Amino acid sequence: MRNRMIAGNWKMNKTYSEGVVLAQGLARELEGGTGSVDVVVAPPAVDLKGVAEVIEQEQAPFALSAQNVYWEESGAFTGETAPGMLNAIGATYCIIGHSERRGYFGETDEDINRKAKALMAHDIVPISCCGEPLEVREAGEHVAFVVDQIKKDTEGLEIEDPSKYVIAYEPIWAIGTGKTATADDAQEVCGAIRKTLAEIFGQEKADGIRILYGGSAKPENVAGFLEKEDVDGALVGGASLKADSFAAMVKAAM
Ligand code: PEP
Repeated sequence: MRNRMIAGNWKMNKTYSEGVVLAQGLARELEGGTGSVDVVVAPPAVDLKGVAEVIEQEQAPFALSAQNVYWEESGAFTGETAPGMLNAIGATYCIIGHSERRGYFGETDEDINRKAKALMAHDIVPISCCGEPLEVREAGEHVAFVVDQIKKDTEGLEIEDPSKYVIAYEPIWAIGTGKTATADDAQEVCGAIRKTLAEIFGQEKADGIRILYGGSAKPENVAGFLEKEDVDGALVGGASLKADSFAAMVKAAM
């Protein structure tokens, strides 16, 4: 049985104080609890500590995620953040392999694989993103493309507790564009991802790994995705920047 997950990726939005206000607003919206839905917020790195404090003070029912990590423990890696540093401020999740990091910052599947291993060694749950660009979708090669990413991103991973590794399928053409994939489009790829995970890790483990859909998900459309067998939640960008719309998505998943 997989608990649903709604995760908000704030990207490069919200200053420290704006992030605190957003987290406080979300804590208020969700003060009745989130049932069996796991809720995660991923603020920018400089906001993490402030949001961690809100979570603690308000006993808020959501967990803290970073948006990126480096795989080394410490040292001369200017601008990077080590997994142990995330542990120290209470981040229990970390997004890796977002298409913006792959596209703008040249992150490769090999990098993503190293990041996943480093996070898991520190008991931080990776939210590992995959997804195809428009030309691949138009050529009808999206399933093979994503399956290839999954094989590379998971190479050599040892997954003991499948609830501690999360995949987000985000077709690049649907991110921040207002253009959503249909629920059937999402199921086609998420189903293929689960089949691939079963080949790699065995069916039992594959059945415990959450697969989220991301790409212009919002309160009005999230329920349709969640009805699909292999879609276990959503990774939300734009609609996570307002407490009421993000909370509405959590409530739709409950
Ligand atoms: C994202 O950045 O992960 C995302 C899905 O963005 P949006 O919801 O804005 O399309």
